Amino acid sequence: MTATSVSGSTVAEFVRARAADLDAGRTDTRTDIAEIGGRGLLAAGLGGSDIREIAGVVEQVAAESLAAGFSLWAQRMALEYIRRAPVPVRERYLDDLASGRQVGVTAMAAALKHLAGLGELPLRAAEEAGDRVSGPIAWASNVFEDSLIVFPFRGRDGDGRVGVVRADADGVAIRSAPELLALGATASTALSFDRVEVRDDHLVTAELPAFCATIRPVFLLLQTAFCAGVAGTSVREAEGRLAGLGAQFRDEYGALAARHSSVRQRLRQYTTDAPATPPAELIRLRLDAARTAVDATRLESTLRGGAGYALHCDTNRRFREAAFLPVQSPSEGQLRWELSQYD
Ligand SMILES: Cc1cc2nc3c(=O)[nH]c(=O)nc-3n(C[C@H](O)[C@H](O)[C@H](O)COP(=O)(O)OP(=O)(O)OC[C@H]3O[C@@H](n4cnc5c(N)ncnc54)[C@H](O)[C@@H]3O)c2cc1C
Repeated sequence: MTATSVSGSTVAEFVRARAADLDAGRTDTRTDIAEIGGRGLLAAGLGGSDIREIAGVVEQVAAESLAAGFSLWAQRMALEYIRRAPVPVRERYLDDLASGRQVGVTAMAAALKHLAGLGELPLRAAEEAGDRVSGPIAWASNVFEDSLIVFPFRGRDGDGRVGVVRADADGVAIRSAPELLALGATASTALSFDRVEVRDDHLVTAELPAFCATIRPVFLLLQTAFCAGVAGTSVREAEGRLAGLGAQFRDEYGALAARHSSVRQRLRQYTTDAPATPPAELIRLRLDAARTAVDATRLESTLRGGAGYALHCDTNRRFREAAFLPVQSPSEGQLRWELSQYD
């Protein structure tokens, strides 16, 4: 699928022209989110089980810039959460998120980790006032001063919930963003909540486990899509450098191209009916996709030679961008551990 605007340029072309500036921190991903939303693509297929169209857009964007692809994933996930929220929340926020006028934050890593039995929810409702939530968010992306944050927290009764709050609400503190290896344009940083009011009409769900079970296939498949995007570009770049000394890497290239093709084939298959994806296959695919992307960007770098070691070249950018994938939640450690539970 090629997403083309009225002016004739594709989303991929739009992001390609911005990739170097995004990497150098001369701009940020709000512009890309607004452009994609303006073309009506952010909400493609929203509400259905066939997510092929949005997966295709995420893959195309990440093929040009993982920073933009990752921010797009976060935006779409915020939209997915709000679409499943009660009517008052949906009415207030859905259209602005879908158009890209409002940037969305998914602070759900802690919830996925918690539900896998690997940690507590760091945000909690105060004992004495149940609608006041305090605690840290270790990392979140798309964190701008007026972003909309979707976050998990532990209610007074001990049950997990998901709430929504604007980043400029009383009690929300945004730490200044640290310098990163890459993805600086994604506004990724830490936050803390100090008695932030989360009224009932700002609850996305009071049933965290069931909610996460429904969003998990989309969450992981769209992550797979951005892994496939950056991997695909590196595989193509590597293919063009297999002559001369590059011929020494033909076997590695062949194996990587086959892994990338397998990831894409499974991605296409599972995105036709995301909720029907067998859980173990979902984990395996997401794990394979991230590892393929890391290995492909490494091979591209090796084949590119010294030029690829210069900071501001595309090969170097992809190498740095993909270094994030093993730690992105669910981290490679968590995915391996979850998969081992099925053995
Ligand atoms: C640039 C960037 C952007 C991000 N954006 C977002 C975002 O938008 N939304 C979001 O929700 N998150 C986001 N994150 C968080 C990210 O997705 C991961 O959750 C986070 O990087 C996990 O790393 P951690 O530092 O929490 O490590 P941990 O998960 O604490 O892991 C550190 C080490 O401890 C091990 N470990 C962890 N838990 C256990 C355990 N229970 N028992 C034994 N060993 C354990 C791990 O295997 C690992 O080796 C972002 C992170 C970065 C760096």
